[in-house]
Amino acid sequence: NSFAEIDLGEVLNRNIQRCRYLKPTPVQRYAIPISLSGRDLMACAQTGSGKTAAFCFPIISSIASSLSVHHTENGHNRGSFVASPLALILSPTRELSCQIHEEANKFCYQTGVRVAVVYGGAPAATQVSHPHPILRDLGKGVDILVATPGRLIDLIERSRISLGRIKHLALDEADRMLDMGFEPQIRKIVEQMNMPPPGIRQTMLFSATFPHAIQVILSYYALIP
Ligand code: AMP
Repeated sequence: NSFAEIDLGEVLNRNIQRCRYLKPTPVQRYAIPISLSGRDLMACAQTGSGKTAAFCFPIISSIASSLSVHHTENGHNRGSFVASPLALILSPTRELSCQIHEEANKFCYQTGVRVAVVYGGAPAATQVSHPHPILRDLGKGVDILVATPGRLIDLIERSRISLGRIKHLALDEADRMLDMGFEPQIRKIVEQMNMPPPGIRQTMLFSATFPHAIQVILSYYALIP
């Protein structure tokens, strides 16, 4: 019934205390231990339930604890400017993506884990010819990427982002992404990820409802076997 009882690591636990999250919300209490163990997860959670921390904490904890290995690999990203994150959090809107980024960034403090956000808005051509702060962030290397589907595909096609190393995939408000017509984009994104051996990549899905289309995608790509 306290964050200290969940093994999230010293630095993250300190950040949780600093942010005055005194005890886990119900969705955090159930979801965090499951995802920390590396298992896939589907959770029904509304805004305000604390779902953002429920998928961010295990991702941050897991990346922080294996940082030395990953950062060696990440070194050559910096020169070639192809960001190759370890975790991808997909969300339907710019507003939600920015909220997730803000929350994740707060808890990454002093962990060495780098988080960035990309979202649609200004035309991509402008962002490329006049380097946008977002693209500059990506150039420094990123471990956790928060993204809206359309802009992510655009940046993959421009060779700014590679999904070849993704170990954690979180789909936030999955039902809303489908309602907004993002199904083709989600399929395209999942097809960009290397097919890891079973049990290596982890999928976390947070949704208010679980329409058939979501289940079809999950099983078609063996995201949650
Ligand atoms: P969310 O449902 O993820 O949008 O979170 C709703 C709000 O609750 C956000 O402002 C969080 O910062 C806050 N929050 C999340 N988890 C906790 C917690 N365990 N204790 C206190 N506040 C929290």
